[in-house]
Amino acid sequence: MNIEQKINQLREELREHNHNYYVLDTPTISDYEFDLKLKELQELETNHPQHYDPNSPTLRVGGEITKNFKTVTHEFRMYSLANSYSKEELEDWEKRIKKFVDGVIEYTCELKYDGASINLSYENGELLRGVTRGDGYQGDDVTTNIKTIKSVPLKLKGNFPKRFDIRGEIILPFEGFAKMNKTREEAGEDLYRNPRNTASGSLKLQDSREVAKRPLECLLYSIKGKGLPFTTQFEGLENAREWGFKVPKAAKIARNMTEVMDYINYWDIHRYDLPYETDGVVIKVNSFYQQEELGYTAKVPRWAIAFKFKSEQAVTILHKITYQVGRTGAITPVANLEPIDLAGTIVKRASLHNADQIEKLDIREGDTVFVEKGGEIIPKIVGVDLEKRTKNLQHTSYITHCPKCNTELVRKDGDAKHFCPNIMGCPPQIIGRIQHFISRKAMDIEGLGGETVALLVENGLIINYADLYDLTEDKLIPLERMAQKSAENLINGVEASKQITFERVLFSLGIRFVGETVAKKLARHYKSINALANASEEELILVDEIGDVIAKSVVSFFSSEENKTLIDRLKLYGLQLEISSERLTNQTDKLEGKTFVVSGIFFKVTRNELKQLIEDNGGKVSSSISKKTAYVIAGENIGPSKKTKAESLKVPIITEDEFLLMIS
Ligand code: AMP
Ligand code: ZN
Repeated sequence: MNIEQKINQLREELREHNHNYYVLDTPTISDYEFDLKLKELQELETNHPQHYDPNSPTLRVGGEITKNFKTVTHEFRMYSLANSYSKEELEDWEKRIKKFVDGVIEYTCELKYDGASINLSYENGELLRGVTRGDGYQGDDVTTNIKTIKSVPLKLKGNFPKRFDIRGEIILPFEGFAKMNKTREEAGEDLYRNPRNTASGSLKLQDSREVAKRPLECLLYSIKGKGLPFTTQFEGLENAREWGFKVPKAAKIARNMTEVMDYINYWDIHRYDLPYETDGVVIKVNSFYQQEELGYTAKVPRWAIAFKFKSEQAVTILHKITYQVGRTGAITPVANLEPIDLAGTIVKRASLHNADQIEKLDIREGDTVFVEKGGEIIPKIVGVDLEKRTKNLQHTSYITHCPKCNTELVRKDGDAKHFCPNIMGCPPQIIGRIQHFISRKAMDIEGLGGETVALLVENGLIINYADLYDLTEDKLIPLERMAQKSAENLINGVEASKQITFERVLFSLGIRFVGETVAKKLARHYKSINALANASEEELILVDEIGDVIAKSVVSFFSSEENKTLIDRLKLYGLQLEISSERLTNQTDKLEGKTFVVSGIFFKVTRNELKQLIEDNGGKVSSSISKKTAYVIAGENIGPSKKTKAESLKVPIITEDEFLLMIS
């Protein structure tokens, strides 16, 4: 055997032992024997540098220093995951996705590992690159550090595709984490807070030798690539395992939601037996074809959802209860806590929901309380440690007056919350309403954000949304942080909003219970704000999909003198408070009862105009094709899966011109 053969043989052996030890957890030789072989290889490599291999097992010990991590664009964007916290939310998800795909849906259930996500690229069976998730589009090239993680294969086995990306999570198992902290404690250094942050911090260390010392692991969960030799998520996991990746065996196929729930309930208990942290389960539609049908929202795949386990509790002191006032005047009590680490984040505040909750748990200022991080963004108080209560603590009496405007609060029968009735004079309500008015789905006023609204209100420049149309640059420029250019943009944005269609203006007004869809319904039915304002409750209820809660709220809105004045002013400024006569003459019932799906790029009208035309003529627009779809209007570059689906369901595909003819 010559030197080169010897080197290759040793590399092969060490690779196999690495795999046995770090991926399969079943070593076949002792650590001592392993070290001997590694030393032998190291010596040969040093003496024969012509046989250098960037993926040799000797490079696992690190050594390279990275000063600046290179930014790399992901070939496939790394999305986030939607979250759910209950069986009901999962069932809602299933209902939603069933509207997009026909036929049986199978799911892959996996554990959700709590670490730092990573994208590994392989070419010809060799690790090319490891990149952090970053913002999802671009991440940092941390290849040198990744190579020191022993469960990441540097060379693959078996029948792998020529090029692919594989995604996973870099984690730090509890045992290794504890060891690291023990060393730090002995050295008198600050302790690491939790395994997840330590894992993700490790990836960005400049000295790869330091990374090599940390017992990091890499668990894989998804393969991305073109022309992959399988068509389901589960097969992908099995393949990855054969190529040498560490893919936990917990993954399982579920044929329905009952089986999904069984999986969740099992792991909710048994996760404590795992050597690393998990924070939930990830449920994925198994078939790639169905995944493609479902696609993505702006942030997350529609074909997957995370189910988060109930997280740990923490115990801390409740110092003070304060009260927040929302846009609708609803009061929310907030617990101000002695800061505490809860599952890795420092918690200072928690929600107390409402007066009943405080009463029921008999929560008092000064109490020792249990805090839990459920689904909500802010954690909640779930109980009081009564044994720790001291005698002097006062029973909490709920506030009777608004903390912002001192108006006496009201609580209607059936409402859990107290409200401040000073709708027109209470600052957080005033600001909240205007913020809603300018928001993206409402008037979408460019150049004006939520904070600026607060600034304008606080400086007395506006007290309602109509006042926006009275603003001038001269009034704005004296404000702090308001440059000439920003003032100009704001005024232009306000001016441009006068073109926003009636249905969106109606939504922007902030009538309680009148969301986007209801606003569209009402606009199409009544066609002008005058007609709507004159409608009685009885008449409103007769409109399709309008119930008595909405009807009452609409009538009450238009019976207020303040609102009447506001609307009169908006009219004067030239906002669209009716469907323009041009659109009106074009409104028909020609498409009554017909649902359309629009896909591709159009030339005569924009996509939005097309949707408007459909609705103006009594039709409905849907985003997914089903048996109920009347027509698919196809532009250039219609999505291939939409096309196949329409063909298989025999839904007629028509062009833009054919559609325009249909309504002319
Ligand atoms: P989030 O960060 O809460 O949006 O959750 C999405 C992240 O969960 C992904 O970016 C992954 O890093 C991580 N994750 C952990 N386990 C899995 C898994 N089995 N499948 C998909 N993502 C996972
Ligand atoms: Zn108030």
